[in-house]
Amino acid sequence: MGAPPRAGARAPDDPTDQQPSQIRHRPRGRDDGRCEEARADWPQTALAAREEARLDTVRARFTGPCFGVRDALATVEAALDGGDARSVVALGSIVHNPQAQERLAVRGLTVERDPARVAAGARLVVTAHGAPPAVFEEAARRGLEVVDTTCPLVRRVQEAAIAVRDSGRTLVVVGHGDHPEVRGVLGWAGCGHLVPTPEDAASVPEGRHLGVVVQSTFPGAHLPPILAALEARALSVEVHDTRCPVVTRRQRDGGHLVEEADVIVVVGGRSSANTRALAETCAARRPTYHVETPDEVRREWFSPGQRIGIASGTSTPDWLVDAVDQLCRSF
Ligand code: SF4
Repeated sequence: MGAPPRAGARAPDDPTDQQPSQIRHRPRGRDDGRCEEARADWPQTALAAREEARLDTVRARFTGPCFGVRDALATVEAALDGGDARSVVALGSIVHNPQAQERLAVRGLTVERDPARVAAGARLVVTAHGAPPAVFEEAARRGLEVVDTTCPLVRRVQEAAIAVRDSGRTLVVVGHGDHPEVRGVLGWAGCGHLVPTPEDAASVPEGRHLGVVVQSTFPGAHLPPILAALEARALSVEVHDTRCPVVTRRQRDGGHLVEEADVIVVVGGRSSANTRALAETCAARRPTYHVETPDEVRREWFSPGQRIGIASGTSTPDWLVDAVDQLCRSF
């Protein structure tokens, strides 16, 4: 008879004294083996499934505010921080983005669309969209200092419209009539026909030599049918493609983004023409959601493992794009 086991020691054939791997590999029935193997693989399988289910994001190459909006914001912020007691009043939104606009309001910026109602002594901000000459005249008449943040590319549209008028051609402005830029362009030219859709070409007299300028943020895809409708009733059409290259590039970039993503989230103000156009471009190829803030993003828009493309309009601040991106990754 051998020595009795010492206290606390296990008999050599006690399976619990062996390493887990040894226990797993001791002889067993077939079904047991499958269960054991499945259990051994479980952590890796679960991890892989979790990795596959995780949502990934990919950003458009160009996001955040364009140079025109950045410059306008910097100018207004300098006016607000300048230690000058005069109030700062903007003729409209500095950017078509409620969240960015709210931040400026907290710092003291107010908005008044009618310059005749701005209190004497205030500084009057003309937004990046520009304004008609009547606004500058009214400000001068009332002694208001004008802080002009008109984007140089919007000024280019105004100058093109004046050049068309001076050339003797009939001016046509392709753009949205409710947009401040278009009101400014028509104001500087002092004449012109507004044509937002192909149907509106009917308002342009027939048999004329036309000169066409285009709102800087007008969607490129909408332009050809309008030009075709104008050509059908004109002696000649001279087109000045004054669309903003920054916007055109973002729309093209949106076209690339849909190749890399399953679903698109476009971040930007709903009143922003270029953001709406970008969302429209993406929606033609992928399910697309246009949001202003992260709280509007819904988990149920996405399926496990999908890649979400994040794009933004030219007036969307970087911090909003970052917040939406982070939220999507956290789902
Ligand atoms: S979108 Fe283009 S035209 Fe408009 S403010 Fe920006 S740079 Fe200027």
